[in-house]
Formats: sequence, structure tokens, C-alpha cells
Amino acid sequence: MISLIGIGSKREHITLKAVDKIKEADVIISYHPYLENIQDLLEGKEVLSRGMGDEMERVELAIEMEKEGKKVAIISSGDPGIYGMANVYFQIIDKYSDLEFEVVPGVTAATYSASALGAPLHDLAIISLSNLLTPLEEIQRKIKHAAIADLVIAFYNPKSKTRTVPFETACDILVENRNPETPVGIVKTEGTDTITQICKLKDLKDQDIHMSTTIIVGNSMTYVKKGKMITPRGYKMNAKLPEQTEAFYERFFNGDIQIGKNLDCEYFPCHEDQENCTFCYCPFYPCADGSTGGKWIEDKNIWNCKDCNWIHKDDVVDLTLDYIKENVKSMDDFDKKKKQLLKFRRATIYKTRNLDFQRNYDLEE
Ligand code: SF4
Repeated sequence: MISLIGIGSKREHITLKAVDKIKEADVIISYHPYLENIQDLLEGKEVLSRGMGDEMERVELAIEMEKEGKKVAIISSGDPGIYGMANVYFQIIDKYSDLEFEVVPGVTAATYSASALGAPLHDLAIISLSNLLTPLEEIQRKIKHAAIADLVIAFYNPKSKTRTVPFETACDILVENRNPETPVGIVKTEGTDTITQICKLKDLKDQDIHMSTTIIVGNSMTYVKKGKMITPRGYKMNAKLPEQTEAFYERFFNGDIQIGKNLDCEYFPCHEDQENCTFCYCPFYPCADGSTGGKWIEDKNIWNCKDCNWIHKDDVVDLTLDYIKENVKSMDDFDKKKKQLLKFRRATIYKTRNLDFQRNYDLEE
């Protein structure tokens, strides 16, 4: 039996199944630095350690030993199926008959790094910047399409002393196709320490990045709060409605709508240069999504929209007004149709974001 085992990035992330499989093995085959994290599991085992670039040799060796009837563990860092030894193994299994094998998953750098940064992952692309085996053009094409598709992007193997071009061009492609203010998380493991840093996309090129750094580039909804990077998924939440909301929507449902600026309001102007007052009381309240500027007031279950200008933009109001007139007929509908409303809000953010960043997010391009 050959077990292709992912041991994660740090010992504390190794799974119970991976530990069991290592314990069961007669022979351990590994790239030597990975052995440090599993030293206590190696006693009494035959340990064969090989260097970087010897991946195929490690697999052939494992097959040879499996044919002798031994239980063999091939060790990968992270997950064996993500730039790991499973990819090497499956490239040659049809050379041999009657092999018994299994893949034991591990915690990959994207999820390990995401947990250290907060919750930055939503729909995700993982891209290795190593162009040793992959043409640079292929890597660049994938980055461009992932950027246009607004996927969160995790970069592995970003840079080495001699290989800097893929990283530098990746930064250029991203800045061309994504808001340069987008948060980017940088995660390094030094010994048992995990070191995290969050910068803006436009500053990524100047950061201290090396081969084992993991980079997570947020999408257009990613924001930073309390030092953590968050990409919202859009869960429905409840909070106490501001007092005047019901009276406002009673007028709204009766067709008594103030469109555009309300110059008679004693608070005007209250939203800087975005002064469309049509939705003075936001129909998405509480969206609980900090990407447009709202935030919770601590310990009060109150969502504060003071810094959200989004609902006061003309193009957002135009789209939202039509939708609300069509779909919301009473105060109860705001609660009953909340998920639908939040989905519409998300779609509207995407439809209107070009105006923010003057970037081209058109998938047809
Ligand atoms: S005003 Fe902005 S932050 Fe507040 S609920 Fe509406 S969309 Fe969300």
C-alpha cells in the first residue's frame, strides 16, 4: 500500500488520519525538510529522504517498495493533490499494474493562511507562480482571467532569489485588472510562528516575498476590519431597525417618494459627494457587509451605515428603486425576502463597481 499523505504546513495542522497512516507505514519517503514536523512519528521506520527535484525518484522508490509488500508513506507538505506528490504519482501509475494506493488530504497553504488572516476566501483560484514546469504565458493568462472573474487568488511559490519575473508581472496584471486598493494578505511561517501582514494590491510588489510565502489577493468585496481580512458571503442578519424606518417606508409604499437630493433635509449633505437621498433608510438594512462601509456598533446589535455611500449613488438608486417597487410591497417583505434582497444588493455592487474604479470587469473582454 502506498499512502500519499499531506501533513499540512505546520505540525499542529496534521490530520488524525495522516498521523495514523504515518504510524502504520513501514517506510517513509519524503523531501527532507518535511521530516522535521513528523520526527516523533518516525521511530522504528525506514526513512528515505530526498531533495528538491527528486519527486519522480521518490515515487518510483515507493512503488518498488510497495511491490516488496511494504506499507509506504509518501509525505507531501500541505495537500498532496495541490502541487504535491499525488500529482507526481498519478502521472505514472499506468506504468504499473496492481498498485494499492490512497491519497490522504492535508491542510493546504491557502486555507491555513486564510485562517491566520481572518476569512478572506470566497470563490477562489490557487495559482502557483513557479514557471519551472509551467510556461509563464499560461500563468499570466490564468492570473488575468482570475482577476477579471473577481476570484480571490491565492499565490503559491511566489518568488525566489533567481525567479522574480512571474511575481512582478503578476502584480502588474492584477493592478491592471483589479482595484489597486484591494487588500492582500501575506503569510509566512518562520519556525513555529505564523507571520501575517495585510497590504494594498498597489504596494504588493514592494513587499518582502519569498518562495514559501503565501499571498491571498482579495476580490472586489474584500475588506479589512479589526486587522482581519474578510470576503463576505452575504448571510442574513437581524438588527433593530432605525426608528423612522417604518414611517419612511409607509410614505414610500404610498408613492410619496423623494427622488434624488433632499435639499430641505436638516442633515443635508450627510454623505459627502454621494447625495442621492432616495433611500435615506436603506432597504438592505442590516446588510452586515462591511465592504461598502457599514459596521456594527460593538455590543449594541446596531448596524451603523454612516460610512456607506454606496446606496446614495445615482446608478445604485436607479437599479434599486425599480427592484424595490417591483418586489417589496410591505414592511414584512423586507424580512421575508431578505435573502433575495441581499442577492440583488450583491448583483448591484457588481453592476455598478466599474464606476468606482474605472476598471474593466467585463467577462466578455
Ligand atoms: S446603507 Fe450600506 S451598509 Fe447600510 S445596510 Fe445599506 S448597503 Fe449596507
